[in-house]
Amino acid sequence: MATIIDGREIARRIKEEVRAHVDGITTSGAPAPRLVSLSSGAGDDAEIYIKMQQRAAEQVGIEFVRKDLGENARMADMMAEVKELNADKGTTAIILQKPLPFNGEHNRIVACVAPEKDAEGLHPFNLGKILRKEADIVPCTPGAVMHILKVSGVELYGKEVVIVGHSEIVGKPLSLMMLNQGATTTVCHIATAEAGTLTEHTQGAEILVVAVGKAGLVKENWVSKGAVVVDVGINSVDGVITGDVDFEDVSRKASVITPVPGGVGPVTVAILMRNVLRAYLRQAPGASSCKA
Ligand code: NAP
Repeated sequence: MATIIDGREIARRIKEEVRAHVDGITTSGAPAPRLVSLSSGAGDDAEIYIKMQQRAAEQVGIEFVRKDLGENARMADMMAEVKELNADKGTTAIILQKPLPFNGEHNRIVACVAPEKDAEGLHPFNLGKILRKEADIVPCTPGAVMHILKVSGVELYGKEVVIVGHSEIVGKPLSLMMLNQGATTTVCHIATAEAGTLTEHTQGAEILVVAVGKAGLVKENWVSKGAVVVDVGINSVDGVITGDVDFEDVSRKASVITPVPGGVGPVTVAILMRNVLRAYLRQAPGASSCKA
């Protein structure tokens, strides 16, 4: 039976560290870091995430400000708001809540956020820093996976890693972060599945990360004995939250596994808070003046 990772406890420890730093900032007389959440008519799903972020911010002493521009907001309104927040000295970091109504244009708005205020680590400048092993503000979910492996004592150097899913927010940046740690990384996606070679790859993984969004996709026979399995997926099946991995069966074969819920999810929110702190430090007097 696999060791089950306690994501909530890992998240608690990250937040404790962030809290200690934030307390140091406010004790010195400086205002607390401020995270501004920008949305455009957030629906029920987004509302759940925003509330989780707000609660985590409260726990670490970060000020959380919600700005919803309404569901009729135009691209120009959002751009104007982002530019105003970029220029506002009181705003430490900005998070763009999904979904925005101008879906295809999401990346244009992300690129408009000042890189040093990019709470999600998704600005092209911050993504590019991963390539150079210089990243401080990292995409939250890949940052969470890396942190979970580190504190769980899972060494990446020389390991065969397989990531299923190559999205810009999870699979792609994670593959680079793991490569930077000396892992041999293989990234699989829909074309791998269509080619019929997906399980061939997953069976060879010493560390398997799944970020697809299909409940119970990964079965016990996809995984080699003793593999470390990280399940990023969040799916709602008849109102029950479940991952991309068939937890019951796979946990009998893996050596370490993350559950859903209570695995990667809470750590992702904690890494968001760590990013806000890092954004604060990047903007501090004396920090590198090269922002982009
Ligand atoms: P996404 O943008 O939809 O990407 C899904 C990826 O899976 C794509 O690369 C897609 O390939 C690939 N894929 C789809 N079907 C596949 C199959 N049958 N076999 C192999 N690959 C397949 O999703 P995402 O934003 O990365 O999120 C993935 C999952 O993680 C979702 O459940 C999401 O809710 C969850 N998530 C969790 C957290 C967290 O904090 N725990 C954070 C973010 C996301 P193609 O692009 O080639 O089609």
